[in-house]
Amino acid sequence: MAETGHFPAPSRDLCGTMVLHRALLNESMTYRAQRAQIENRALQYETARISPERRGVATIPVVVHVVHNPEIPEQNIGDEQIHSQIAVLNRDFRAKNPDVSKVPPVWRSLVADSMVEFRIATVDPFGEPTDGIVRVETHRRKFEICASPGCPASERDQVKSSAAGGADAWPSDRYLNIWVCQLGSTPGGGTLLGYAQFPGGPPQTDGVVITHSCFGTTGTAQAPFDGGRTATHEIGHWLDLFHIWGDDDGACSNDDKVADTPNQANANVGKPGFPHVSCRNGPNGDMFMNYMDYVDDDAMFMFTQGQRERMNACLEGARASLLVGGRVAPEVKPEMEVAAVGGALSGGNGDMQRLLQDLQESEKRTKELLDSLHDALGLVAGRGGR
Ligand SMILES: [Zn+2]
Repeated sequence: MAETGHFPAPSRDLCGTMVLHRALLNESMTYRAQRAQIENRALQYETARISPERRGVATIPVVVHVVHNPEIPEQNIGDEQIHSQIAVLNRDFRAKNPDVSKVPPVWRSLVADSMVEFRIATVDPFGEPTDGIVRVETHRRKFEICASPGCPASERDQVKSSAAGGADAWPSDRYLNIWVCQLGSTPGGGTLLGYAQFPGGPPQTDGVVITHSCFGTTGTAQAPFDGGRTATHEIGHWLDLFHIWGDDDGACSNDDKVADTPNQANANVGKPGFPHVSCRNGPNGDMFMNYMDYVDDDAMFMFTQGQRERMNACLEGARASLLVGGRVAPEVKPEMEVAAVGGALSGGNGDMQRLLQDLQESEKRTKELLDSLHDALGLVAGRGGR
């Protein structure tokens, strides 16, 4: 368990979520503003300034788009493989997966039931009955994420567009869209298993993409990614979880914004031995068995309480429209807003508190937009070279 001196990047780029996230941050003021609000809400949940309103299990309706080339029959995965994936999700997100017993004793108390379940859609966007599976033939042999600098935005995310040979999203405020297809390699030549779009992005591309050989536990699923955990990981991102190592290339300076996961240098791959120490996080080391690391499917088996709080913040905020039963997002509790400005109005009437809350929110949004505009103007000026 010697501390490693330097932290090489993983040889496999298994997940493309961060490259997509960075591209959207660079391009979209709206995305930057949305992300700022979402992070603010997540922080309030994490620090217990907001308590989750939700008491029951949230059930998320899922549509699976199987985008396949007729010349490559294995791309057209069977229903059984799809249902095996939904079963894995319902175990993993409820901490009912049998391998949760392998969590080291030091972290057992952190294991969280996220109280989220997934159900294949039974009603389509037009109100008609459906089996929640959309099969679309494509002329493409594989799809690329195409979110790196230099790759034209028009070629990005084509699996999500019927005009580009993919399948259009169902309304992402009502369904979790999962696209299953053959993914190509990453720009670095690594293996790309899947990617997700964080909350706050464009609705027409909202969802997760998984390569078919890493989807579910049967059919074309191939070891070591035949445990359905690629989808668990990607849906973790979709519910606003970051990689457990914080994507700082081993610098130990950035983390996943979750307090109960140890700071970790870089991604772990394969089947690490416990403990694996990095970033002075001894004696217990990295929580590499977390779903948000890069280890093999049979080596990851937990979310933490802190991660559940981030997911709660997302489900009661940016993704509140998905909660079955039409539950609405809880309002920020007025007394908290009052406390935030020094308690001057504590005990005041609810209308005044709500007005104050609205004003603060409006002011915050205006400031975020102005900041974004300044950034954009700076970029334009910089490009002119004057
Ligand atoms: Zn990832």
